[in-house]
Amino acid sequence: MKPFAFAKPGDVAEAVRTVAAEPAAVFLAGGTNLVDHLKLGVARPDLVVDVRTLTSREVTDLPDGGLRLGAASTNSEVAADRRVRERYPVLAAALLAGATGQLRNAATTGGNPLQRTRCVYFQDVTTPCNKREPGSGCSAVGGYTRYHAVLGVPAALPDPTDPATCIATHPSDMAVALAVLDAQVQVLGPTGERTIPFAELHRLPGDDPSRDTVLEHGELITAIDLPALPEGARSTYRKVRDRASYAFALVSVAAVLAGDDVRIALGGVAHKPWRASRAEGLLRGRELTDSAVRAAMDAELAAAQPQPGAGGGNGFKIPLVARTVAATLRELTEATR
Ligand SMILES: Cc1cc2nc3c(=O)[nH]c(=O)nc-3n(C[C@H](O)[C@H](O)[C@H](O)COP(=O)(O)OP(=O)(O)OC[C@H]3O[C@@H](n4cnc5c(N)ncnc54)[C@H](O)[C@@H]3O)c2cc1C
Ligand code: SF4
Repeated sequence: MKPFAFAKPGDVAEAVRTVAAEPAAVFLAGGTNLVDHLKLGVARPDLVVDVRTLTSREVTDLPDGGLRLGAASTNSEVAADRRVRERYPVLAAALLAGATGQLRNAATTGGNPLQRTRCVYFQDVTTPCNKREPGSGCSAVGGYTRYHAVLGVPAALPDPTDPATCIATHPSDMAVALAVLDAQVQVLGPTGERTIPFAELHRLPGDDPSRDTVLEHGELITAIDLPALPEGARSTYRKVRDRASYAFALVSVAAVLAGDDVRIALGGVAHKPWRASRAEGLLRGRELTDSAVRAAMDAELAAAQPQPGAGGGNGFKIPLVARTVAATLRELTEATR
């Protein structure tokens, strides 16, 4: 492991100033992702700044009936909070579908959505990877693509030597639930505070796959707000994976039904949690029959680009995610009858 300096500032403002002043500095929260990357040589910072005890660990009520999750609240604490379980079952279910009890006891609200891709090549420093080493190429194209993206990618076999190529997926379960809940991210940076709609936090690779989010260097997540859902809203999360536990999503679906409103977010299919806006628009106000859902998902997935690769590639994700959306909406519809 590359040696680094370690700092434990007195408050969040000092932490932000400290990271902003050092280009090769990173924040440390629960450490369940960052420490692995330090050991693997994927992350090579000069300075690690511990913020674990600086941000709030509380879940507090907001005046509009929503909840504020302090950035240091753990995944276990949020999943166990009675208000979260009653009002946002989709979030509790997504959190409990992730990792293991021990990891969830350490992982935080701020760190979870910022965990990095599980692309095997990203974690193997001996292979080219545009995300880890900008401009080095993408080893995943035509390689092991089972966990890779089908949406938000330009072609079925993008140019692996193009510095913009990255077909990685975002691995967080929590982030898919936060996307469907229209959560708001509270951020403190060197120039002050700002609020980022969760749907805009993560980015597609664009021309810089090394950037997962729109956060600037030195910006710290201080809390994530959950807006109130309408009275009678129902929500749930469904994750499809290779093993029943301790496995990342092949595909996942977070859904909310609230009156005529249908909200759907997809995990495991893109570089960011994918809000299925096209399908939502086609389903809004309609009876959620299997054929209506199938047609809406056909429209949502029309631009999908299955990636060939070892073991058959990842084309299986396209029918799988459509069926998982249908099953999730059926479960919610039946629960409202
Ligand atoms: C074996 C294993 C299995 C797993 N399985 C799953 C799974 O099935 N589903 C799933 O969703 N996750 C899974 N995870 C990932 C786990 O959920 C994440 O590692 C964890 O949520 C990250 O949170 P953390 O607080 O430990 O973040 P850290 O590791 O401390 O930090 C992660 C990143 O966020 C940055 N950061 C942290 N806090 C802040 C902040 N407040 N503001 C700005 N930047 C910040 C850090 O600089 C770092 O880049 C698994 C992890 C392991 C090791
Ligand atoms: S898919 Fe992205 S993370 Fe994986 S090797 Fe290619 S550039 Fe790296």
